[in-house]
Amino acid sequence: MKRLFALALVLALLCGCGASGKSNKVSSTVFAMDTVMTLTAYGEAAGGALEAAESRIHQLEALLSISREGSDVYNLNHDREAVVSEACGGLLTKAGEITENTGGAFDVTVYPLMELWGFPSGEHRVPEQDEITGALSHVGQNPEVSELDGHGRCSVKLPGETKVDLGGIAKGFTSEKVLEELAEAGVETAVVSLGGNVGLMGKKPDGSDWIVAIEKPDGSGENIASLSIPGGGNTFVVTSGAYQRNFEEDGKLYHHIIDPKTGFPAETDLLSVTIISGNGTEADGLSTALFVMGQEKAVEFWRAGVYDFEMVLITEEGVFATPGVTVTAKETVTRLEAEG
Ligand code: AMP
Ligand code: MG
Repeated sequence: MKRLFALALVLALLCGCGASGKSNKVSSTVFAMDTVMTLTAYGEAAGGALEAAESRIHQLEALLSISREGSDVYNLNHDREAVVSEACGGLLTKAGEITENTGGAFDVTVYPLMELWGFPSGEHRVPEQDEITGALSHVGQNPEVSELDGHGRCSVKLPGETKVDLGGIAKGFTSEKVLEELAEAGVETAVVSLGGNVGLMGKKPDGSDWIVAIEKPDGSGENIASLSIPGGGNTFVVTSGAYQRNFEEDGKLYHHIIDPKTGFPAETDLLSVTIISGNGTEADGLSTALFVMGQEKAVEFWRAGVYDFEMVLITEEGVFATPGVTVTAKETVTRLEAEG
């Protein structure tokens, strides 16, 4: 009997099952969308919920991947016209809205340029100006999306030789869907990180704030600042920066965030942009867009209030943050004012 009790105690400790069940914490790691994703959920429903969330990630990857034969995006880029899932159609529509609201800084039609710079294949090279001019002529025309049948499926047509790439927004969208899936399975508290796209749900079980680190934008893997987020509903924290994917040629660094106006990696005074928002898709799209805009335009955009978000900008001069976010950094944090 004593041995049985001891075994039960050990099992309870291993599971981390507390009296309320709330302290039960389950984590899993998934490799999808070319990145490592970590999912942690709390509570009694956590185990089953994580399995459902993993399936959702794989399902979305199969629809949104640019390279996987048969995905919606693959079919579109190859056939110019396709019937796509609700996820893909909805995301293309949302991306089009962000393109319009950011004056074209965010644009999923940059794919011909991504190909030219060799990012998808990994065969990086600096293209000639006339190649860039040629590719630019296929950038900037929005895909035509129309809803089909009331089941969410859409018919999409790509104008001219346009090709789309959802890489700047798909992970943020997926993090949102993952939190939805976890909530449907009964989870109230979770933290997920999809290759740097962080999604937080609910309040931390011990009542303390969630802490999300912002990486030093030099590729060292060290942190430059950390955010304290009280939580409650869903919060998404997404960072874009040149340090995340790049190559060097003749001593110059060429990164993966393309300015759709010039066709070159964005010439920006920002080293990284972190967006904090209740909407994961917007957080991802905006982190890419504001990086392209540069500091001055990014601040103007935030002040204009088209989207509801907080942000942290890292530049050579230091750390700049909007008033609604708690940031700790070794360097001084300059507060951005709502009025310019
Ligand atoms: P992110 O890491 O979210 O900033 O997104 C960068 C990825 O988005 C790149 O790897 C490309 O797949 C795609 N991309 C690059 N430039 C742009 C742009 N100006 N607008 C939209 N997507 C872009
Ligand atoms: Mg993005």
